[in-house]
Amino acid sequence: MIAIFQERVCGMGKECLLQVQNVTKRYGDKIALNNFSMDICPGEIVALIGENGAGKTTLLNIICGYIKPSAGQVQYKGENIIEKPLAIREFGILIEPQFLDYISAEENLRLLSQLVNRKQDTRIEELLKKTELYSSRKKKVKEFSFGMKQRLGLCQCLLTEVGFLILDEPFTGLDPINVEMFMEAIREFKKKGCSIIFSSHRMEHVEMF
Ligand code: ATP
Repeated sequence: MIAIFQERVCGMGKECLLQVQNVTKRYGDKIALNNFSMDICPGEIVALIGENGAGKTTLLNIICGYIKPSAGQVQYKGENIIEKPLAIREFGILIEPQFLDYISAEENLRLLSQLVNRKQDTRIEELLKKTELYSSRKKKVKEFSFGMKQRLGLCQCLLTEVGFLILDEPFTGLDPINVEMFMEAIREFKKKGCSIIFSSHRMEHVEMF
């Protein structure tokens, strides 16, 4: 079961940003996610807490358009995003971040910015500094530790300056200093009035926001 923790800022004329309605995902006989519904308004932070196998990653992948649900609807700003996935331009996504590990951290970020057709050298520099990766920017990603890769994933996720972040287990495997660095970047994002959905196994991560 997935528990949803959400400080509501809806009402006062705010429209829903994201609506997940009765979403189910089946793999053969296996039900990965069962009739799940939720909605998010602009400026809200939502935590999905659940045990291993509860379906958190499945749900986030469906929202991103990476996998199709067996039933149900997902709408973002009123548009059906199952039919028309928006992921790369509209969302900042951190779900099992992928890199080309034989090129440098900086080159990975440049490549991603080319994919979204934007030149973002200043933003890349800013993010590498914020995540304390600047001195390692020329290193090949295959030489990075887990925590460094996770921080590079956060850079990827924040690169396109979107209004909505989707983070799957962002704190897992990070030491307390890295968790705080992540939190700081997320709090900054929140201050701009953006929305965030993240998954975790641990309640303490909900209380940190
Ligand atoms: P964790 O906290 O361990 O990451 P989770 O809550 O993110 O778990 P999911 O990864 O969404 O859970 O998986 C939900 C269920 O769906 C699990 O039982 C998993 O084994 C199953 N599942 C996920 N992907 C597939 C797949 N491609 N084929 C078959 N079963 C799958």
